[in-house]
Amino acid sequence: ALPEASTIWLDGALVPWHEARTHVLTHGLHYGTGVLEGTRVFETADGPAVFRLPEHLRRLERSAHMLRMRLPYSTDDLTKATAELVRANGHRSCYLRHFAFLGYGSMGIDMRHSPVTVSIASWEWQGQLPGADAGITLKTSSWRRNDPNAVPTAAKATGPYLNSVLARREANDAGYDEALLLGPDGSVSECTGENVFAVRDGVLRTPPASAGALEGITQDTVLTLARDLGLPVRVENLLRSDLYAADELFVCGTAAGVVAVRSLDDRELPAAPGPVTDRLRETYGAAVSGADPRYRRWLTLVE
Ligand code: PMP
Repeated sequence: ALPEASTIWLDGALVPWHEARTHVLTHGLHYGTGVLEGTRVFETADGPAVFRLPEHLRRLERSAHMLRMRLPYSTDDLTKATAELVRANGHRSCYLRHFAFLGYGSMGIDMRHSPVTVSIASWEWQGQLPGADAGITLKTSSWRRNDPNAVPTAAKATGPYLNSVLARREANDAGYDEALLLGPDGSVSECTGENVFAVRDGVLRTPPASAGALEGITQDTVLTLARDLGLPVRVENLLRSDLYAADELFVCGTAAGVVAVRSLDDRELPAAPGPVTDRLRETYGAAVSGADPRYRRWLTLVE
């Protein structure tokens, strides 16, 4: 349920939840001209803290740049606005949705005459993958991931999410929790809202951005945590068979966290969560909660 009693930051002001509305002739609704971020606030001993906020806001700026959208707010402005919103809504922990889109002003493919609207919403959300603790089931999608030469796949933009929505629906209708998407060249790309990792003989492997995957901030976090644990990591193209032959598979994203995969295309993994996934889940939990002092640099306190 969405927290209808709270406020939303909209173009510089906090407004009541139900007043954060837009016109049906909003450019972004028709043509997918929007960029977004999903970020999380965790409860720490020093109060609520946003995890890797500068990285999320920099990705928002990069996404806007790739779409030729000019954000009317700096990352400094948005950092202050984020803290103000979390304080106003009284969250100890929450999910944040930063969103910038072309609004009401003109219709048609020509994007040059529509104003940019920016909003930040917050709510308490347990993530995208219900029942994730027991490990999730994956199915390779019949849909290919967006081609990086059709849309900029490194931009977290609204239009390209139709690809994720179609793949997720197909997987869910077939009884699976999540879809695995292959890139245009047939190599493994990512899931609909998470990056994917395979572990074999103690080595972690994850596909690069060139496979059409988003440059996930959790993916980057996991790579850092794994290196700090002394685990070998490789960012490289993976085949479907690399995943079938893995000892462990897991997916990761801001909303999902680090989640073990129980099966892929009805092939059971030997363990879910396996020992490496388990260790990374634990280390990730210590990083986001501020329990591990090495990773406090990733936290932005809001109070
Ligand atoms: N891939 C896709 C398609 C996503 O939507 C997300 C969620 N933003 C991710 C990967 C994971 O990215 P992050 O770890 O930055 O949340």
